[in-house]
Amino acid sequence: MTAVCQPVSLINCPIAEVTGADLQVPLIHGGTARYANLDYAASAPALATVVEELSRTLPFYASVHRGAGYASQASTACYESARRVVAGFLGARTDDHVVFTRNTTDSLNLLAHCVPGETVVLDVEHHANFLPWRRGGARVVEAAGTLAETLECLDRELGRRPAALLAVTGASNVTGEVLPIARLAKIAHRHGARILVDAAQLAPHRRIDLSECGIDYLALSGHKLYAPFGAGVLVGRADWLDAAEPYLAGGGAVRSVGLHETRWADGPARHEAGSPNVLGAAALAQACVTLAGLDRDRAHRHEQALVRLLVTGLEDLPGVTVHRIWGDPEGGVDTVGIATFTVAGHHPAEVATYLSAEHGIGVRHGKFCAHPLLDRLGLPDGAVRTSLGLGSTADDVERLIRAIDQLLTCGP
Ligand code: PLP
Repeated sequence: MTAVCQPVSLINCPIAEVTGADLQVPLIHGGTARYANLDYAASAPALATVVEELSRTLPFYASVHRGAGYASQASTACYESARRVVAGFLGARTDDHVVFTRNTTDSLNLLAHCVPGETVVLDVEHHANFLPWRRGGARVVEAAGTLAETLECLDRELGRRPAALLAVTGASNVTGEVLPIARLAKIAHRHGARILVDAAQLAPHRRIDLSECGIDYLALSGHKLYAPFGAGVLVGRADWLDAAEPYLAGGGAVRSVGLHETRWADGPARHEAGSPNVLGAAALAQACVTLAGLDRDRAHRHEQALVRLLVTGLEDLPGVTVHRIWGDPEGGVDTVGIATFTVAGHHPAEVATYLSAEHGIGVRHGKFCAHPLLDRLGLPDGAVRTSLGLGSTADDVERLIRAIDQLLTCGP
């Protein structure tokens, strides 16, 4: 295996305390193994600080914005404070809205409901950032050739006919490749369009600042950002959100209701009808606070060292291919801690089942809700995805490499 720049001992300690780090899982031939979680991109385990915050908030929850009782007031304060924390964490502008949603999918469907015109998307997107736009007749650009060529294609498409929005992912959920968001924002704005960033995969790995990067809208999921399921956000420019009909009709989204007419609320409330997920918002906000307090440079170096170990280890094995959209990372495409691979002669489902049953290693296999991309990569049966996070260690990665080596040498 190729040596990495950083000694393994330095990258064998996690960056933050996540739950489930000591989980023991049963193996098929008997005994147990420490669970090696290489599936952070699907859902990241909760941070210990998030669990503590939830146990503080849980005894007090009550419906927000609707009661004068102490618990209701405390919950309202907690919910609105979570909104401010998320805005600060993402560098939102003072007049941006932060709308709490269920997850990234919900946020993107909400924005698609509000966009006053056409949207341009790439063909590498997760279905959540593809299907909502396609419903409205999205213009799809193929991310073929190099990343620079893809940016030129987007530039040409936006120049060819006006579009309201360019919707792009911050980082591919399949290959981890990172898109140059600030450059894309400039391209979109030059053509009079706005930009939406699907930050489901980028936000857990990189600091994002909407104002600095010129991002108009951003969507993310709490469960990929070290908080539990059920809370996400859509953050961005107020005017489109205030001009659209509410995403959901119901209590909380109105100023007044008569028998035959409704005056809808402005602001985030307009799109948050129904009793909101206060605990989810509090958990998400706590994850933002903890992430903001981390040494993100150290976390970045840690992850880059681990991803090099992972990719070089896999590529050194005969018959193993690591797949990318734009080719060799030496060509300059930045990646977060995700590597997707195939093993010649072994179906991805067989590899993933073998890793779990025989070695206690959790990965994901399939087409990762990105069918157009997997088809273009020539992977109709899918692939195996490994993904890293704040609790990952060199030990997790080395166990995976040894297990694949063993599969190739001895068979399952
Ligand atoms: N966008 C990307 C890039 C993702 O990786 C995912 C989930 O894997 C989503 C959107 C959808 O996220 P959720 O299922 O939390 O809505």
